[in-house]
Amino acid sequence: MAPPELVLGTTNAGKVRELAALLIPHGIRVVSLRDCPGAVNVEETGSTFAENASLKACQQAAALSRWVLAEDSGLCVDALGGAPGVRSARFSGSDGDDEANNSLLLSKLSGTPTASRGAHYACHAALADPQGRLVARSEGQCSGVIAEARTGTGGFGYDPLFVVAEYHRTFGELAPEVKAVLSHRARAMRAMLPAILLHLGGRHSDG
Ligand code: IMP
Repeated sequence: MAPPELVLGTTNAGKVRELAALLIPHGIRVVSLRDCPGAVNVEETGSTFAENASLKACQQAAALSRWVLAEDSGLCVDALGGAPGVRSARFSGSDGDDEANNSLLLSKLSGTPTASRGAHYACHAALADPQGRLVARSEGQCSGVIAEARTGTGGFGYDPLFVVAEYHRTFGELAPEVKAVLSHRARAMRAMLPAILLHLGGRHSDG
């Protein structure tokens, strides 16, 4: 019998693309929330990434009676006291408007020298069983610097402004294969993989 499918508990197309690319090579069968009739809109009422990831995984799993992997992620900028943080998607007010969010970030950092433009991406993931119980969590981070102007068209969200520490290039400029190794989401997924394989099957591989 085929192993159960894992519902990716997000409607963010960029996240779905990256999560699928990270999990499918391990034999994990994934399905997008958009293809799940009965999916609910989970309010992100938590004050931390971890809380929101659990809310999204557990509430969606209970509503669908399916295994759900959810994550909450965002950008934390040192000079802004960790903002936008859990409000990354809603930084400029209009939910999910990447352009407006990037413009606001640039204006808030206007006049801030490169040495003070440090930041990191954070990702907290949560796996819930079909009864809506949290069975595993993980996290990952990725360090960088906020550029003074957008570069590149790859990735999504703040990627054209996020200069990756190891490469001195933005995620907008780097190939998806590089982001799939270095990103906060990739690191959180690598840490989550043993739990997913334990509960849903798939195969252990080097990929
Ligand atoms: P969430 O859907 O509430 O977790 O919000 C995630 C938001 O954080 C996204 O809408 C982006 O603004 C930002 N974000 C998270 N991960 C990334 C990434 O890998 N690249 C760029 N922006 C990201």
